[in-house]
Parts: sequence; C-alpha cells; structure tokens
Amino acid sequence: TQFTELGLSAPILTALADEGYTTPTPIQAQAIPFVLAGRDLMGIAQTGTGKTAAFALPIIHRLAEENVKAQPRTCRTLILSPTRELAGQIADSFRTYARHVKLSVCVVFGGVSTGPQAQQLNRGVDVLVATPGRLLDHMSTGALRLDGVRILVLDEADQMLDLGFIHAIRRVVRALPRARQTLFFSATMPKEIAALAGEMLDKPERVAV
Ligand code: AMP
Repeated sequence: TQFTELGLSAPILTALADEGYTTPTPIQAQAIPFVLAGRDLMGIAQTGTGKTAAFALPIIHRLAEENVKAQPRTCRTLILSPTRELAGQIADSFRTYARHVKLSVCVVFGGVSTGPQAQQLNRGVDVLVATPGRLLDHMSTGALRLDGVRILVLDEADQMLDLGFIHAIRRVVRALPRARQTLFFSATMPKEIAALAGEMLDKPERVAV
C-alpha cells in the first residue's frame, strides 16, 4: 500500500512527500481508512509504530473537508496526551502534516502560565492537544468549552492510568457531545483500560500492530 491509495486529499499527500514518506506503516495502512470513514477506533500500538500519523492524517483530512470555523473558546478535535513532551510532539506532527491546509493547532499543558494558552483558546482552535490536568483548569475558568468537539483522541491510555489521570479523563469525557468520533490508543490493555474503552467507544474497529 502507498499513501496515495488511502483516500487522503492532495494537500496532505504533498505534506507527506515533503517529509519523504511514501509508504504507510502497518497501523497507518489499517487505521486511516476506518478513521476517514468516521468509525471509532481501538488501536493497540506502541510509540514508534507511526501511530501519531495514523490518527493525525485522517483527522486533518476530515477537518479540512468540513471547512467550518471553530467557535471562540471551543475546539473541533481534542487530543488527550499523558505528558507535555508527547503533547508537544503530537502538536508538531499536526502542524507538519497540515502545512498545506488551513487549520489551527494549539497545545496546552501544565507547568507554564495559563494566560497565553487561554488567549489562544479564546480564538477557537481546530486541533487542541492537551494534558488532562491543564485541560480541566481551562474548563473550570471558562477559557474552554467542549461542546464543539467532534473528534476525540485518547493517546497512550495505559500511561494515563499509570499517571493517575483516569478520573480526569472521565470528567473530560462527560463534558463532550455524545455524537462524536473517538479514537483510543494504548500499548497494553489491562482491565481498567478495557473498561474505559468500553465506556468511550461506539462499535469500534480494532487495529493491533
Ligand atoms: P510515532 O509512532 O507516531 O511516534 O512515530 C514514530 C516516527 O516515525 C516519527 O518520527 C514519525 O515522523 C515517523 N513516521 C511516521 N510515519 C512514517 C512513515 N509512513 N514513513 C516513515 N516515517 C514515518
């Protein structure tokens, strides 16, 4: 399989060519068609398998295709990440792959002041990458509402559990619209993670690499 066979739009294929990527990794080849079709996804994959692009590429395609603006203090896609390092990497990947389409990408995490983050959220963002604690902070101050979220990604769910974020995640999920697409990624599937996935996903496709 080549990237050109997966149904991704021309500006995304151009960004991939800019990066020198021609062949999707196994998780990308399996997951991208499901995500483009709007399906929920359960992805069992480790870091290094190309899982970030497996969700970023079809999400960018769907957001660009919809071509609507995010309302102030809302986001259209929410990506939850366990650490600030991973959150920053995910945001960088979105910016790279969305280079030839017009989408706003914002990242929020703890340990830095909230003011500049709140200012960015105020304008509305297409893709918000966040760690759970700081996301809840912005929700409680009114800097961000989650009622406009159409796509949710939970990355490294097992890490979220290890870092004690499960309650925070459940609070975030309760604030989301029910009509949404959810993509759930974990390297391992302990019982608590399987239960969380069961609560969050609607008839998911399953992809394991
Ligand atoms: P990830 O598993 O998302 O952390 O990605 C691992 C690394 O593989 C990142 O540095 C990506 O830029 C790179 N990568 C992702 N997809 C591809 C691809 N299809 N071909 C070559 N490199 C890739």
